Amino acid sequence: MHPTLTTESLLSELAAAHRVSARHAHMLASNELLCRSGSIEVIGARAEIRLSAGARALIQAGAGEGPGALRAALRAVHADDRGRVIAQWRRAQPGKPFELRHRLLRADGSVLRVLQRGLMEIVDGEACPKPVAILQDITEQSAAQDRIERLVNYHPVTGLATRTLLLERAAGAVERAQRENRPVAMLFLRVAEVDRVHDALGLNAGDALAATLAERLLDDCRGEDTAAHLGSGEFAILLDPCAGADESQALNTATKLLATLAAPAAVGQAELITEGQVGIAMFPSDSSDAAELLAHAHAACGRGGAGISFFTREAGVSAARRIRLETALRRAFERNGFELHYQPQVDLRSGAVIGAEALLRWRCDEFGAVSPAEFVPIAEEIGLIVPLGEWVFRSACLQSVAWQRAGLPSVRIGVNLSPRQLEEADISQRLQAILLDTGADPNRLGVEVTESVLMRDFDHARRTLQELSAIGVEIALDDFGTGYSNLGALGALPFDVLKIDRSLVHDVTAAPEDVSITRAVLMLAQGLKLKVLAEGVETEGQLNLLIANGCELMQGYIFSKPLPAAVFEQMLRDGARLPEQLLHRAGRPRTLLLVDDEDGVLASLRRMLRGAGYHIVTARHAEEALARLAESDIDVIVSDQGMPGMSGVELMHRVSALYPDTVRMILSGYGELQAITDALNDGAIHKFLTKPWDDERLREHIADAFRRKELADENRRLTHEVRGANRELARANQHQALMLAQQREQLSLEEVRALNAQDLLEHLPTAILGVDAQGTIAFVNRQARALMRGAPSLVGCDAAAVLPADWLRALRRADGRHHRGLVDGRPCLLSCGPMSDRGKQRGHLLSVIPVPDACQEVLA
Ligand code: C2E
Ligand code: CA
Ligand code: CA
Repeated sequence: MHPTLTTESLLSELAAAHRVSARHAHMLASNELLCRSGSIEVIGARAEIRLSAGARALIQAGAGEGPGALRAALRAVHADDRGRVIAQWRRAQPGKPFELRHRLLRADGSVLRVLQRGLMEIVDGEACPKPVAILQDITEQSAAQDRIERLVNYHPVTGLATRTLLLERAAGAVERAQRENRPVAMLFLRVAEVDRVHDALGLNAGDALAATLAERLLDDCRGEDTAAHLGSGEFAILLDPCAGADESQALNTATKLLATLAAPAAVGQAELITEGQVGIAMFPSDSSDAAELLAHAHAACGRGGAGISFFTREAGVSAARRIRLETALRRAFERNGFELHYQPQVDLRSGAVIGAEALLRWRCDEFGAVSPAEFVPIAEEIGLIVPLGEWVFRSACLQSVAWQRAGLPSVRIGVNLSPRQLEEADISQRLQAILLDTGADPNRLGVEVTESVLMRDFDHARRTLQELSAIGVEIALDDFGTGYSNLGALGALPFDVLKIDRSLVHDVTAAPEDVSITRAVLMLAQGLKLKVLAEGVETEGQLNLLIANGCELMQGYIFSKPLPAAVFEQMLRDGARLPEQLLHRAGRPRTLLLVDDEDGVLASLRRMLRGAGYHIVTARHAEEALARLAESDIDVIVSDQGMPGMSGVELMHRVSALYPDTVRMILSGYGELQAITDALNDGAIHKFLTKPWDDERLREHIADAFRRKELADENRRLTHEVRGANRELARANQHQALMLAQQREQLSLEEVRALNAQDLLEHLPTAILGVDAQGTIAFVNRQARALMRGAPSLVGCDAAAVLPADWLRALRRADGRHHRGLVDGRPCLLSCGPMSDRGKQRGHLLSVIPVPDACQEVLA
């Protein structure tokens, strides 16, 4: 049965329904506000817009006063998006919902990003579908999305593309290039300094350098190229195929890159010159997709060094070889698979073998003998060089001890120290421990370091080298002339020897510029007042040039290759030396070179000089003369002026540069007088003599020339000796200064220790007396002085004369135990123990403890 509907009940039901609907409307509005969403309906033929409360909040329209018309609503859509929104609504099909993102312009001018979901709703009984839309504020999600995309796609330090974005762009470029039949180029750039700065100066400095380089990189890119930062000092550039990306364009960009990199970059207070290495790979000629393109550019970049290289199949193979070598190296180290060879070093004044460089040798099961030039850098990169280098040092020490015990002539063994080893904090202690452990004499060992030590932790390197130098290990600078050669910094390190790099040791017959380089480096090295050793000497011509320019030591194939230990040992036993004829020596014949294109002249000169005791060498033109000079040790040259090819003066100019110590004379029938006077003035020739000659006078001039040469030789020898002696002296002084400083430090340390001990004793709450080994009282502390009020100062007195008998007994026992005694007529405990210093007896300490009244009974 239905309840009767009264007006009241109807009204109250209506009111309840109204409350429910109001509550629902309110809930909907709160919901919209919380979700930052809103809805829009278009109603009626006049296209009136109805905005929900949420929608009004989104566009900041006042309550109830929403844009009254479609046009007004559209005005809230960002102008740039408006066309798109309208087009989407025009395309909309009844009953099919759609989505689009656009911006909303709010009343306060701020912009929101919204997701609009729209529908042309089909309403029962109405002819036209009704547009409805829901707006969702997605501003924050979009911003987060943007941030994530930025992080994925751009490097946080440099802002350049990441590997992800680079590969994405490369994939796009490859696809386009395939369609359009065009090449794509990828450049891989490595700048090793970034890592070094990272290591030496910290992450911030490394990042700052990377950011500077990135800016320069961008300057070298065209608008459509992609520059990426792959971490640390590794960058890549993808050349845009539309702007042209063939090999010549790649080379062009690479060249520009290297040039821009070469400008100094500020790192903190310092300026650094960076050097890059670029590897280039091409699609489709050597890579089949984007990933391979990058991998091949990376492989082409190789490791270390500078310059530009294109990818080749061989480089790809070598990358694979490298990985296999890494594994094999580790295994070889575990199985003790290395060996040392010794390359003799020769003194160019005596010809004797004075040392050897220890060089690693490795025969790998898979690849056979592998050169240290290949495996040492790998060992360095994987950190194996540290234990391997210590193995080398230990083996060299053991070998040195063995040769010393066998009574062989003393030689110094030089061991290469890699920069990586020198970075180890305790490297000096570790090498010293090996010396102690093996019993090797530091004076028979040396270490070789390269200039790269100057680049890293300079102070640490200096300390390490100074400590090694102080105990007698010789320090050599390896590969001199190939590095940065900061002479100031070199001077601050304790180098004894400069090893001139092989690439700078030219032959006398080389181009004059090359020869002057060798001479300049020798002069520079001598200027630094160090012993000079030339590396990689292979020919007599090189040797002549070195000797003529005062080089003292050499190492190279002309004397010997690196040898297995047993072979080198035999060489020492045999007393092998550099053949006499290769050396400048006193007692060798005075050698004269005669140059003339006329055989008759040469013959009569020979005849005239017969019996004068000269070793005579002849040449018929300048080239031949240079060859003779390279083969033999010429003291004096007499040359004709007018010869086919090079004139006499020209020849002498060359000779004066190559062999400055020779004495040079022109013997000429006619005068290119100006040229000859000039040559006289600038020292290229010493004398000008005329043809036909007077026999007697010519003999006189030649004898003079030899005297002059011998005087110069003697001077040079003395200079060498003085230089050597000075060096020894400086070294001895340095050693002595160091020992003194150490002693002084030790003394002051002991003094401080003694004062501290005295202080401590003085303030102890026990009475203490110190009696020295001679029985004299040396020390009485505060408590003891208080106990013996009235007694005169005891310090300096003979203990036996002034101390009570029971005290003396305790002193004699000196057993550290307590004995009963009396002080001031009252009982006390006496105890005495010895004072010693490193096992040496220094006297006794006596402690006196009065027994308080309360305890006396217990004691009794
Ligand atoms: P390096 O220290 O400059 O050693 C000299 C190199 O020149 C050696 O090459 C030696 O065999 C070679 N050589 C000597 N005389 C001549 C010559 O007259 N002509 C030519 N063409 N070459 C000559 P090697 O033994 O192949 O060593 C190459 C490099 O490997 C060394 O250069 C050194 O940097 C490194 N290395 C070798 N052993 C060790 C080691 O025990 N520790 C470290 N850290 N590096 C090592
Ligand atoms: Ca070396
Ligand atoms: Ca070297």
